[in-house]
Amino acid sequence: MRFVGAELILPDRIVPGIVHVEGDRITGISPGIQQKNETESGVIDLQGGYLAPGFIDLHIHGGLGHDTMEADTVVFRKIADFHISGGTTSLALTTVSASNEEILRVLATASSLLGKALGGARILGIHLEGPYLSEKKKGAHALNSIRPPLADEWRRYLDYAPLITQMTLAPELEGACDLIKALRQNGVIASGGHSLATEKELTAALDAGMNHATHTFNCMGTAVKLGPYRIAGMLEFALAYPEIRCELIADGKHVSPTLMRMVWNAKGDDGVCLVTDAMGGAGLPIGAKYRAGSENSPMAMVEEDVAMLEDGSALAGSILTMIQAVRKTVELVNVPLHTAVKAASLNPAEQLGKDNELGSIEIGKKADLVWFDKQFNVRGVWIDGEMKYHNRNI
Ligand SMILES: [Zn+2]
Repeated sequence: MRFVGAELILPDRIVPGIVHVEGDRITGISPGIQQKNETESGVIDLQGGYLAPGFIDLHIHGGLGHDTMEADTVVFRKIADFHISGGTTSLALTTVSASNEEILRVLATASSLLGKALGGARILGIHLEGPYLSEKKKGAHALNSIRPPLADEWRRYLDYAPLITQMTLAPELEGACDLIKALRQNGVIASGGHSLATEKELTAALDAGMNHATHTFNCMGTAVKLGPYRIAGMLEFALAYPEIRCELIADGKHVSPTLMRMVWNAKGDDGVCLVTDAMGGAGLPIGAKYRAGSENSPMAMVEEDVAMLEDGSALAGSILTMIQAVRKTVELVNVPLHTAVKAASLNPAEQLGKDNELGSIEIGKKADLVWFDKQFNVRGVWIDGEMKYHNRNI
């Protein structure tokens, strides 16, 4: 199979080229544009659009009114089906703070799917967001589900370690550093977030292996005065240390364009992972209501460009898709397209330790590809070399 007539988005540049695919792998990349010869089979003409590596979303709760906390494989399939339309080929379903039983139910349900093709975007695993968070930075999480990290509880989660991609926790909680060490020993991304940690607590977390920051700027403390001295909060700490990759909800609302620019300037091309943090409201019309997580979670409503808790007290995840996150990054921050795409593909693949297989158009990697036009309309998506989404409306 050959993809022709496209500009290829590589990690460091965009070039006209042809991509050869055999089975589930990219087997060749050659320069130049070759027009489709109608008599040839296996030639796919991308009509002057872009061909990019499939997007990898590390942080996604739901879509189309559904949420990961429903712990149902049919629901997981619906979420994966919706987000492939935004160019996502791999995703981590994300939990919210909930009871031990509810979290274990999600892990048990997802473990039955490991290695199986459900359809839609590939489900890489589960991102546990909470329940070990700061009560004061809870965002849309249910207060009565937030608690300190008790080893007896989280060891049961880590029984599912091959399935867990990431855990978001507040580094200031007692016992957090032991948890961070255990996460990293198990190959799980240890992410600081929903936190009011001080610079001292954050330094200890970094030493323990914290290597990621959840939705940078959102639900995290900033610099404060300690006596006469000024010290960093979670935000400045995450921006300052290259060991930490920063998630960014690039909708221009969770973080304004100026603040988005600040994250890019601080972290550089390798340090940002675009995420959607999409909740059930993604894909629903303005005014639609849904529950933001588990059955204890508050109700949320879709507004223009964002979703809010029904009482207006906090944002409730986004309604983004990855292609929109890429588009907003290019338009609002003036980042080159190939750099925005890298933050949606290679950077998260590296963070997951899966960059030998995923994350860029490179010989030997999986043929996970997204085709979009110059107006950022996703036209087609391939996973393992098979077309899994085709937008016939354009
Ligand atoms: Zn969050």
